Amino acid sequence: MTTTSNAGVIAPEIIEGAEELSSVLEAARMRGATIGFIPTMGALHQGHTSLIGRARAECYHVVVSIFVNPTQFNSQNDFDKYPRDIDFDIETAFEAGADYIFVPSVQEMYPKDSASKVVVPNISSIFEGESRPGHFEGVATIVTKLFSIVGRCKAYFGEKDFQQLQLVRRLVADLHLPIEIIACPTVREEDGLALSSRNQRLSLDERYAAGILFHALTQGRILIEQGERSRQVIEAKMQEILSNEPMATLDYASVISADNFLQLDTLAGEVRLLIAANFGDVRLIDNIGVTVPMENQKGQQ
Ligand code: AMP
Repeated sequence: MTTTSNAGVIAPEIIEGAEELSSVLEAARMRGATIGFIPTMGALHQGHTSLIGRARAECYHVVVSIFVNPTQFNSQNDFDKYPRDIDFDIETAFEAGADYIFVPSVQEMYPKDSASKVVVPNISSIFEGESRPGHFEGVATIVTKLFSIVGRCKAYFGEKDFQQLQLVRRLVADLHLPIEIIACPTVREEDGLALSSRNQRLSLDERYAAGILFHALTQGRILIEQGERSRQVIEAKMQEILSNEPMATLDYASVISADNFLQLDTLAGEVRLLIAANFGDVRLIDNIGVTVPMENQKGQQ
């Protein structure tokens, strides 16, 4: 760790207390520093470091939080098996450009007697929310807590978790939080598999099979580019591709309008292709965006 690019520091400052982080960042803002914030659950990979690198390029201080948030897991098994390696994560975050790393305990984020929850209706109960009851309530609650600790900042989120990104945008607008949300593109493996902390838990065979997710999304996109406008046709194509992979158990393969998650029968404007499937007991999600062209309708040149 020899870099001095992190706002001139030679080692990250590791902070465990919410009050301490708030006052350090408030003092930095008083000096005129801008803050970039990247909330994570650790097990950092190049998806996370791409967010940290973007913040490094755009902000004076870069804060990374590492907290495996228990309230967003709807399965105890998934929470228990979530990969954790705090030393690796601290080193990785620092090398990517973080100068403050916030590593609170569960007790710090959810003190005894804490009761408040943040609920963002509608978007929380479809797709991931439907399959993982309570998940988005946990996400909205922890993100709101982190935002109020960090204060005014740019916050970087991956498009990889598109529903989460839209939910966070909604809650920031609804609650008038002084946070600018920056969406960052999904980082992928060579075969297109989106990087995810959960990929570590795939067997070799499952890992190989998981490339089918991006393949299905890409085929859906190609159909749209060829002029197909029926949502049902695109969804059926993606479902058919997944059904040919015995290691995958499909949850959903759907097309929605990117801004409001509506499932219109005829595609138009900015749409998002969403997919979720299990490989063994590992649940993976992915998505891609497509701008539906106005011209070149099916059958026209
Ligand atoms: P997580 O640690 O899974 O909660 O993710 C922390 C942040 O990293 C979220 O904003 C994710 O959307 C983002 N992220 C996770 N995987 C990727 C990826 N492959 N590409 C870009 N961003 C990602």
